[in-house]
Amino acid sequence: MRTTAVLSRDPAAGFTVEPVEIDEPRAGEILVRVVAAGICHTDLVSRRAGAADRPILLGHEGAGVVAAVGPEVRTVQPGDHVVLTFRHCGACVNCAAGRPAYCVRATALNQFGRRAHEGPRVRLGDTPVLDGFFGQSSFAGYALTTEDNTIVVDPAVDLALAAPFGCGFQTGAGAVLNVLRPGAGDRLVVYGAGAVGMAGLLAARTVDDVRVVVVETSPARRELALELGAEAALDPAEGPTAARVRELTDGGATHVLDTTGIAEVLGDAVTAMTVGGTAVAVGLGRGTPPIDVADLVLHGKTMRGCIEGDSVPATFIPQLLALQASGRFPAERLVARYPHTAIDTALADQRAGRVVKPVLTW
Ligand SMILES: [Zn+2]
Ligand SMILES: [Zn+2]
Repeated sequence: MRTTAVLSRDPAAGFTVEPVEIDEPRAGEILVRVVAAGICHTDLVSRRAGAADRPILLGHEGAGVVAAVGPEVRTVQPGDHVVLTFRHCGACVNCAAGRPAYCVRATALNQFGRRAHEGPRVRLGDTPVLDGFFGQSSFAGYALTTEDNTIVVDPAVDLALAAPFGCGFQTGAGAVLNVLRPGAGDRLVVYGAGAVGMAGLLAARTVDDVRVVVVETSPARRELALELGAEAALDPAEGPTAARVRELTDGGATHVLDTTGIAEVLGDAVTAMTVGGTAVAVGLGRGTPPIDVADLVLHGKTMRGCIEGDSVPATFIPQLLALQASGRFPAERLVARYPHTAIDTALADQRAGRVVKPVLTW
């Protein structure tokens, strides 16, 4: 199958749009005609991976229509509309416990997971392309996927809007709805209002009487957060935020979502919580947050991490899409579409804060 792909030949250079050849689906594989693929931060940082195997094909927020299925595929049929997500083995202790995001084989399956069979799935002329990113490598007109990461959705769903539900939106919304679970009267503070943080804000707004404060450096994103229902939006450049957050939240946040991955921000967030508060970190950062042990102990605070919103994608993605369709989760306010040939414009707009979630279309 000949199609065009957005490839990374050199992590220091831009992406290139090139014709590639994608193999037919083999046993257990699904060929998806990609309609759209969101750009996630993980795509950009993963360009530095696999340096010896150029070019590489990224993309892990794909959505499209099933074109063909290989032998042994039972749950997906040609014509199905699908959202692609992360892979999991379905058999390990964590998968069995309903926590597929913590699958013990997650790294092997999602970091350019190799085909179980011989031969490359994607070729650029005679050169094999490093693919299998999150079991999809969906920055191309077609993607080879598997049943465990291919979620069938209502054909009425707008696939370009649905694509980011496979990673970014599921991550932010899941951290709030599956992990933090705020209730009436609670005060959530979201640090970093990119796609993940905004999805967390929208998720919190689906729960009655939860107040949300956003801490974000970009003026445009602070403005958007207020439009989407945040009660206040703080600029961290104006100084340490803990005291301001406590003032705005009647003595402290009951819940925190940190998407920044910055150790100091996480420390500040824990300080800003009230008695019994819980902070969840979803930004894959580095370093050690400055946490005051006495504050943690004396005020019964909790700090934990979470990946992919602790979700079971097969149920959580349709649940979020239904919320979007009902108007209660207006994710359409976060998405901007670009033809895949305009990836440079999409990235520039995202960098400048003009766009929260750029989605490439084929
Ligand atoms: Zn597993
Ligand atoms: Zn992602």
